[in-house]
Amino acid sequence: MKTIGLIGGMSWESTVTYYQLINQTIKKEMGGLHSAKILLYSVDFAEIEQYQAEGEWEKSGEILGAVAKNLQKAGADFIVLCTNTMHKVAPQILEQISIPMIHIAEATADVLIEAGIQTVALLGTKYTMTQDFYKEKLIERGLTVVVPDEQGIERVNHIIYNELCLGAISDESREEFIGIINQLKDNGATGVILGCTEIGLLIHQEDSPIPVFDTTEIHARQAALEAIK
Ligand code: GLU
Repeated sequence: MKTIGLIGGMSWESTVTYYQLINQTIKKEMGGLHSAKILLYSVDFAEIEQYQAEGEWEKSGEILGAVAKNLQKAGADFIVLCTNTMHKVAPQILEQISIPMIHIAEATADVLIEAGIQTVALLGTKYTMTQDFYKEKLIERGLTVVVPDEQGIERVNHIIYNELCLGAISDESREEFIGIINQLKDNGATGVILGCTEIGLLIHQEDSPIPVFDTTEIHARQAALEAIK
């Protein structure tokens, strides 16, 4: 079995889910007492978030690149970066290592295509929804991506950083997300990407009028399957 190098802590609320889902997949696939070989480096999210807010992506890329290098040195066979947003610096991380990384947007695009989705809604941080680094991975594979309007982007982003990353899950915010998903459905989306690793803590399939693609679930599952390939 390969050793998975997890870069977590962004936020730790969703890293917990990664740990559970990877082990559940290994258990399901292998049975018995099998569990995943995992090296976890969990960063201080306050530092990373500050660099995001200041637009200092280079600096956070340096930090995460050094973390990835340490995981490689410690014996990781491949890297899993447990956040959608920080895939903005995936190229910078890859420059510092010689092991592969499972890209969260590429893994998600594969699942969407297999499910026959053509137009997909993307929910995530404002960086993920408005910048190109994430959407381009979907568009390259022939998908059409729709995002909320300006007000929706602000609300989704606010709820992610001020509630979900702090472990606060509320019915009110769930209703707000459902309203936004309904608007995106009216704009042609036949599926919705939960493109932030904490959204799955708030929204489940039964809340959504269209199929939900939870990036945490997709990414964690692919990591587990890669480890036992
Ligand atoms: N975990 C979130 C994501 O998947 C947001 C936190 C971050 O900015 O990394 O994008």
